[in-house]
Amino acid sequence: MTTKPCTFDIEQIRADFPILKTVKYKRPLVYFDNGATTQKPQIVIDTLMEYYSTKNSNIHRAVHYMSQVCTHSYESVRKTVKQFINAAYEHEIVFTSGTTESINLVANSFGSRFVVEGDEILVSQLEHHSNIVPWQLMAERQNAKVVMWPMNDKGELRMDLLDGLLNEKTKLVCLNHVSNALGTINPVEEVIRIAHQKNIPVLVDGAQAIQHLKVDVQALDADFYAFSGHKIYGPTGIGVLYGKSKWLEAMPPYKGGGDMVKKVSFEKTTYADLPLKFEAGTANYIDAIALGEAINYIDKIGLEQIASYEHELLLYAEKQLKTIDGVRIFGTSDHKAATVSFTYKNTHPSDLGEMLDKFDIAVRTGSHCAQPLMAYFGIGGTVRMSMSFYNTKEEIDYFVASLKKVCSMLD
Ligand code: PMP
Repeated sequence: MTTKPCTFDIEQIRADFPILKTVKYKRPLVYFDNGATTQKPQIVIDTLMEYYSTKNSNIHRAVHYMSQVCTHSYESVRKTVKQFINAAYEHEIVFTSGTTESINLVANSFGSRFVVEGDEILVSQLEHHSNIVPWQLMAERQNAKVVMWPMNDKGELRMDLLDGLLNEKTKLVCLNHVSNALGTINPVEEVIRIAHQKNIPVLVDGAQAIQHLKVDVQALDADFYAFSGHKIYGPTGIGVLYGKSKWLEAMPPYKGGGDMVKKVSFEKTTYADLPLKFEAGTANYIDAIALGEAINYIDKIGLEQIASYEHELLLYAEKQLKTIDGVRIFGTSDHKAATVSFTYKNTHPSDLGEMLDKFDIAVRTGSHCAQPLMAYFGIGGTVRMSMSFYNTKEEIDYFVASLKKVCSMLD
């Protein structure tokens, strides 16, 4: 990745995130757990307040003013998401509760329609549990098989094996765009190209990519792309499933209820057109509206700008961590988002995490919901520092200095 100098005003950006001023022990929080969830800019918090204080009304159903306002705002976020990821149509954007639900939707609906006994789903070894377990559950129901696509010691997918793993039984390839545990950026465009040569669709888990990279689902030619609002500076409980029309049209509803029907009778029920066919029940409309504001916020800064600044942070952090004797970094691909996963000698990662917490530093420790990946390396877990564009080199300096103190205490 080429790095351009950062031209945004980091102090202004930090001022937009009120939580970054939080002092738990001695100094403002150093938040390096952005892979788990990102913090929220004031505009997102204000939007939630505004809608619950002055505009709340259930959408799609009523003719009164506030319902119309909320319906309009909710549907305009669909347009925002469509433009943000460059989907071809608004109806290809389905709101879900997050990446996990988006993947479960495809596993259930696509699975019941297209997967039969003996079929295979190819799933990468780099996956979060939420892109493994739904496929295992589906495979059990359909008497199909989940086939694992191995990675190498650098935490990169074995592209040399891909062609041989795809056969006439393969119904779907599932992989993440960016690994949450290691930060590896996977060559999804190339994977999709190879899979499509054999007419096999691809689902991309974008939970860790959407906030770091410019995503263009048409350029990628992704069949499905899933992400969560809370990882892109929006609220929890809202997410997106992008699906190509041709698949979503052919797939049966995933959940039944209000809003997803055209006509209901005990004799025969017909379903709503896309995207409502997949949005049963009261939608999480206020969180969706606030997600729209989060997307507008980061779009204004620009993802290219964000990616280049975060890449600088990544190189800076890795360089310094490598100077600490006993630190071992997992995930050494040349293509990485701003995540550094490491261990220190044979110290338990959670001991490191707890001690860093006393220095007002938040990192994630453990398997990062990627146990098969940890098993590959023969470890139980790592310490993961995952950065965002609101982090600074000064915070990295403080982190490294604190880590050195922690390490010497443990020695
Ligand atoms: N996939 C990846 C790569 C993730 O990092 C996560 C969250 N850690 C998920 C899926 C699941 O996201 P959510 O819990 O928001 O549904």
